[in-house]
Amino acid sequence: MQPDGTYIKTCPLCEAMCGLEVSIEAGRVAKIRPNQDDVWSRGYICPKGTSLAELHEDPDRLRVPLVRRGDTFVESTWEEAYQEIERRLRPIIETHGLEAVTAYFGNPVAHNYSLSRYVGAFTPMAGLPIVYSAGTVDQWPKNLSNALLFGAMWTFAIPDIDRCDFLVVMGANPHASQGSLLACPDVLGRLDAIRKRGGKVVVVDPRRTGTAERADEWLPIRPGGDAALLLAWAQVLFEEGRVDLRDLEGRVNGVEEVRALCADFTPEAVEARTGLAAADIRRLAGELASADRAAVYGRIGTCNQEFGTLASWLVDVLNVLTGNLDRPGGAMFSKPIAWSMTSLTPPEFADGFEFHRWKSRVRGAPEVLGQVPISCLAEEIATPGEGQLKALIIIAGNPVLSAPGGDRLDAALPELDCMVAVDNWLNETSRHAHVILPGYSVLEQPHYDEMLWSWAVRSAGKFSEAIFPPDPERPAEWEILLTLAALTQGQKAADVDVQALDQLFFTGLVAGISQLPSSRIEGRDPGEIVAATPGIGPSRLLDFQIRTGPWGECYGENPGGLTLEKLAAKPNGVDFGAMVPRLGEVLQTRSAKIELAPEYIVADVPRLRESLADGEEGLVLVSRRHVRSNNTWMHNAPSLMTGRDRCTLLVHPTDAESRDLEDGVLARVRSEAGQLEVAVEVSDEMRPGVVCLPHGWGHDKVGTRLGVASRHAGVCNNVLAPGDLVDPASGNAVVNGIPVEVTRA
Ligand code: SF4
Repeated sequence: MQPDGTYIKTCPLCEAMCGLEVSIEAGRVAKIRPNQDDVWSRGYICPKGTSLAELHEDPDRLRVPLVRRGDTFVESTWEEAYQEIERRLRPIIETHGLEAVTAYFGNPVAHNYSLSRYVGAFTPMAGLPIVYSAGTVDQWPKNLSNALLFGAMWTFAIPDIDRCDFLVVMGANPHASQGSLLACPDVLGRLDAIRKRGGKVVVVDPRRTGTAERADEWLPIRPGGDAALLLAWAQVLFEEGRVDLRDLEGRVNGVEEVRALCADFTPEAVEARTGLAAADIRRLAGELASADRAAVYGRIGTCNQEFGTLASWLVDVLNVLTGNLDRPGGAMFSKPIAWSMTSLTPPEFADGFEFHRWKSRVRGAPEVLGQVPISCLAEEIATPGEGQLKALIIIAGNPVLSAPGGDRLDAALPELDCMVAVDNWLNETSRHAHVILPGYSVLEQPHYDEMLWSWAVRSAGKFSEAIFPPDPERPAEWEILLTLAALTQGQKAADVDVQALDQLFFTGLVAGISQLPSSRIEGRDPGEIVAATPGIGPSRLLDFQIRTGPWGECYGENPGGLTLEKLAAKPNGVDFGAMVPRLGEVLQTRSAKIELAPEYIVADVPRLRESLADGEEGLVLVSRRHVRSNNTWMHNAPSLMTGRDRCTLLVHPTDAESRDLEDGVLARVRSEAGQLEVAVEVSDEMRPGVVCLPHGWGHDKVGTRLGVASRHAGVCNNVLAPGDLVDPASGNAVVNGIPVEVTRA
């Protein structure tokens, strides 16, 4: 039993990476408090942080594998579970090849100590030709824009919020998300600080969110109008001679192309599409240009919409045109103490980014950055013919609820001959699996975020140990992934040697890094580096990432430098300061310049131009998130589910009146994709003409084991999102701006 005491832990649930003090009494969590001494979060947490004990102790959380027997699941040993996977997978691969097998990676992968480091090993080791991920319902447009502007798809320019004087927040609501693709605890406190030091915060959103409430100005934009607004701001900057690249002069290609592109996107021309007054657009362009230190930050609402790539690209275009990119107080690139696996360019893009290299079998959706939309998965399973999917490995995901067209996926999954879910819960998706393999709880494993420090406002870091060491018989998620990769490669379950596979992966990685010109170990003997990195699994990998990071000891090169051992000795973390200009280090374009007008993205501008005259007819639907929720998977924590029903349809009073709707009545919401009934909440926080549902709900399906969530089922907003409606450039799902009819039910 774990001795009584107080343990330091980093909350793994979101980008804020808050420090927690976890008090243990009699082998159980007695209390979770914010860690006031955490150098990064300084005592900040949100309500989800204290719910980690409920996640750990949840009676519905799976501790042993489940194997399907007819219509039910039975508990099994790990050996039996792996043998069942082998029994089902082997004939599929022998008959149909690996083309019949795929995997899906869910959002929690990015927050898990093991999974985040080993999905990169799993896919190539398993040899899967095509995989799917939650990325195409999330940030794929920004990945695409990063790839073309900066030459690196995971290189995000984030607002230097602590030194910024003028911040524009578009389609982001840190009041609920706590920061997304922006690691920065207590974002709202930091927005307050901008205002206190005389700066200004502007929020662009169809809803007056909790973030907008804390801003100086709220622009209630029409959904999908962001790209038009950003082009209009650029047009004003050019027209008024306010473009000033400052230190970026000579480091940017394509400025004149952007000038030509935005010439006809005057504030007056975009008034209808944005729903904003031309005078306000013009005034704000001037304020942005006049601010000494300004940044534009766009997030999920700028991605999950019909012009997702254009909007994502234009956010950075504005930061460049105002000379604020890579400048303190502007939009900067983080310098993490441990580099992330995502910072390595995938081999297929070593010679530059190419798109549409292949198309999905059924719909013909073109590949972008190695993936097609997640909504393709259902038809690839359900449509007979060569290449039909027969086996699926779902890793920490619940696409039946989280993906558009999830109802079609729900219907297709039972057709699979082999479905494996790596998941801690029997949820709406894993209930279709033949085998469910549970990982550790968040308190059973160490923690150091793999990717999130790559978009952190400071060069900080902290490592926390597992609080409850798991049963030694249970494999960690990274061991599960390596085993699944071996099974997919035709190995017998009994023969899989996880340690040997890990050694293979690690030695290959070290050999590859030692050949990179940008690496601190370029030219060093990989064997020597491997021998000098003890341990196994994600902790060995993390040690390597830290030691070869900017402050690392680098295998004797910098003897006083950082190692995992030294970091672990400081559980409250280390902090090497604010972001510093580092464009030269992060740029990976062939020209070694920012490519401001990539042909692939620019080709989509005419589509936007054609939409400028689109009128505002009827209602459109957008989605929202709540601070007590985390996509689909936090609804089984009792303390987060107290209070009033949060799964409601927000309707502006004028729209409610014209449809005979009032608080609490049931409304029927219909789109071309489907319909649902949901309680109405009349609220003037909505822009008229826009209604809003939260995402991640719909826990009313039979066969799950989610006792609390099923009592607060809510409705799944993705029923209303047409699966084939995507941002054409990136293939990212459109879930904001869906035309709907709303009537009293
Ligand atoms: S903001 Fe909340 S969920 Fe996010 S890391 Fe902090 S405590 Fe966890």
